[in-house]
Amino acid sequence: MKEMMYSEFVELYESLAATSKRLEKVAIMAVFLKKLKEKGKSEWIFLLKGRVIPEYDSREIGISGQLTIKAIAKALGIPQETIVERYKKVGDLGVIAQELTEKKKQVTLFSKKLSVSNVFENIKKLVSIEGKGTVDKKMSLIAEIIGDASPNEAKYIVRTLLSDLRIGVADGIIRDSISLAFFPDEPEMNTKIQESYDLANDFSIVFQAAIKGKEEFKKITVTPGKPINVMLAVKAKDIDEAFEICGKPAAFEYKYDGFRLTIHKYHGEITLFTRRLENVSIQFPDVVKAIKENIKADSFILDAEVVGYDPKTKKYLPFQAISQRIKRKYYIEKLLSQLPVELNIFDVLYYNGQSTLELKFIDRRKIIEKIVSTRRLIIRPAKQIVTSDVKKAQEFYEESLEIGEEGVMIKKIDAPYQQGRKVGYMAKLKPELKDLDLVIVGAEYGSGKRGGWLTSYIVACKNQDEFLEIGKVSSGLKEIEGQEGATTYEEMTRLLKPLIEEEKGNYVKIKPKIVVSVTYQNIQKSPSYSSGYALRFPRIATYRPDKGIKEIESLKDIEKLTV
Ligand code: AMP
Repeated sequence: MKEMMYSEFVELYESLAATSKRLEKVAIMAVFLKKLKEKGKSEWIFLLKGRVIPEYDSREIGISGQLTIKAIAKALGIPQETIVERYKKVGDLGVIAQELTEKKKQVTLFSKKLSVSNVFENIKKLVSIEGKGTVDKKMSLIAEIIGDASPNEAKYIVRTLLSDLRIGVADGIIRDSISLAFFPDEPEMNTKIQESYDLANDFSIVFQAAIKGKEEFKKITVTPGKPINVMLAVKAKDIDEAFEICGKPAAFEYKYDGFRLTIHKYHGEITLFTRRLENVSIQFPDVVKAIKENIKADSFILDAEVVGYDPKTKKYLPFQAISQRIKRKYYIEKLLSQLPVELNIFDVLYYNGQSTLELKFIDRRKIIEKIVSTRRLIIRPAKQIVTSDVKKAQEFYEESLEIGEEGVMIKKIDAPYQQGRKVGYMAKLKPELKDLDLVIVGAEYGSGKRGGWLTSYIVACKNQDEFLEIGKVSSGLKEIEGQEGATTYEEMTRLLKPLIEEEKGNYVKIKPKIVVSVTYQNIQKSPSYSSGYALRFPRIATYRPDKGIKEIESLKDIEKLTV
């Protein structure tokens, strides 16, 4: 069979970029997937998202704009300064690589054609290269493929390196395309595909199952050691609505104001993942120890919330206080005693060799109670009551707020574990005028003593696959290092710089990734931002390294707050 060429992917990218209509994108991609089935490897499906490894793998290609500039220069024999100059005007290294390759093509005839395999394998190597000489090795790998690329190919190689294809494809489109390509007459398969993707976090596995046939989907399940997407809660405005969502009786639990961890035990090893599927086992040796000593089971996946407390008063602290524990990978010993944490376990997804996703919540809870030994301020099953009584539930809610927690989580007692946010499984109730979790999509450089730092941030909520701006926030961060737990402007600038997509004067467009909790006084309708709303007096309460863009407020959430 003829080898698949990278130009075939590039043609697809171009057709996808040429339309903004979702259905058209799905149709185009479905045709391509059938071709990929015949000629390609299932893992090449990652290239449709500008990736080379599955979503569950949080490693990154790790190529900065700077390194890309060097590699383009090396591949095409052009001085770096020429590229930097052009970058200031165009702001898209992909387009620059395309232009420069075009120019070079006029002088040299290049013969070699790039196969998908060449591109995929070289970029994949970038993910795992470590140690001495890393930069040089990475540069050579990139230069090798750019050197052989046509102008259009060079554009998309560069965009893939920077994890930004700009073809308007999100997970939903890939899911619908798999469904249309392989199960055109079975609309119910669309849900199956989504559920399987939630479990696997890996489109190549889902794609392969679709190729082999329906029965294969049964084999996709949770595996300890491999991070998975968790269940998210819908909002309830009061106890009555919570009962409407979860039925009677319902389980009420404290809503701990910490951050979520899924805990995997397999072959005696404990691994901790955040909601963003990042492995944070190194940062939390105290949690790992607590699990080893207090949970009796051979293998499991647990869903839990880690919450900080004041070592002197033993009072629970808000998330902000312990946020730096997620970021700190070195010299953590001191932090362990300064910022101790308690682990509250509230669900189990896998237990002793078997998935427990299908069990009723009350039965999953029984497992937790059986295997977890309670140790005060170290580890415990989440505090819970099961009731049908509005008054009792209200009292429990108030008690939770009283001791400094955020509110309550309400769970349907006979429901299976359902990944993602769906009505009828889990709800959350907390007092309004809380902070909004938003993502940074743009920023501006400061002046004077804040010069050189990005100090104003355009924040956005989401509406399905889109990000809609809702305000500009410049206060809340610290100017100097010092206060425990607080993020500085310098640190935020460091986080944002690799995500810059475009520069226009003082303004930079940022790839949505960094989530912040923002406090505000009120929300007004406003034509200035694409959401149609503006936050008044916004202020960053804290950076949320534990949260992903799927978890930010939706336009619907914002609309609810304005009525
Ligand atoms: P929010 O972050 O406001 O959307 O609230 C949902 C989050 O509350 C979950 O993702 C968990 O991190 C957290 N949480 C705290 N306590 C619990 C609990 N008992 N059950 C489930 N989630 C909890």
